[in-house]
Amino acid sequence: MQIKFWGTRGSIPVPGKGTLNYGGNTSCVQVTLQSGRVIIFDAGSGIRELGNELLNSIEIKELCIFFSHTHWDHIQGLPFFAPLFNPDFSIKLLLSKKDDTKVSKIIEGQINSYFFPITYDILQADIEYKEINPLEAIHFEDALVTPIEIKHSKGTFGYKVIENDKTVIYMTDNEIDYEVKNDKVDYNSILEKNSDLIDFCRDADYLIHDSMYLYDDYKKGWGHSNHLSVAYFANAAGIKNLLLFHYDPDYNDAKVDNLTAETIKVLKNLNSTTKCIASREGMNINMANEPV
Ligand SMILES: [Zn+2]
Ligand SMILES: [Zn+2]
Repeated sequence: MQIKFWGTRGSIPVPGKGTLNYGGNTSCVQVTLQSGRVIIFDAGSGIRELGNELLNSIEIKELCIFFSHTHWDHIQGLPFFAPLFNPDFSIKLLLSKKDDTKVSKIIEGQINSYFFPITYDILQADIEYKEINPLEAIHFEDALVTPIEIKHSKGTFGYKVIENDKTVIYMTDNEIDYEVKNDKVDYNSILEKNSDLIDFCRDADYLIHDSMYLYDDYKKGWGHSNHLSVAYFANAAGIKNLLLFHYDPDYNDAKVDNLTAETIKVLKNLNSTTKCIASREGMNINMANEPV
């Protein structure tokens, strides 16, 4: 299995000289299975460049895009995803069921004349929508993708991909819940309040997790996590590699460096075996090169 990051930013794209290292595009992660099949998580602005590369580089032209949810920063790149305009591709869009509307309406809504120069019927790929349920796994050859409801707007999903002996979790736009005691984050409250997600993530090789804020910048109730709670969560779940993700748009490269250093410091103080890496646009992780 391979992971490639095409967009690591939260909320809104932030191109410019301050974000050259970690990138300015919004959420998009490519996972390539051993069979060569490509699975995509979210269609933020990073998906545009991924689409251009996929046009000529892959043999299996069946793509699956799993959406964490439909906030703008997770769908805004889709109208610019070139395989949608190519009849050789079949593309499955998978997302949580909505109570009040068809999921296709939400996605198609941004490809109409109010927002875009062409209409949806011009797309040439074979497009299929699939409404998915928490904890109902989707099978691909030797791999399994399982969604779980996470703590953000209703119907936001994290995903676990298992292929042979490797596990990757994509969990962004998740607010790790905790209590503060004596002005400190209470570690035990993280275990108690997030036990379902900690169990879901247990012993994963890679956890890609929302790391929007440093602790001092944290906005409670906004649906995102801070570096302290993310480090505690990853340690509690026995994660091997924590990949920080979905950075605040106001964080330049120096601030993301700081976020990473502070997270590593917390893990070190816990004597944790979890390694912490800041994801950045263009980063490629190939698990075939790792020991089992
Ligand atoms: Zn987001
Ligand atoms: Zn969101």
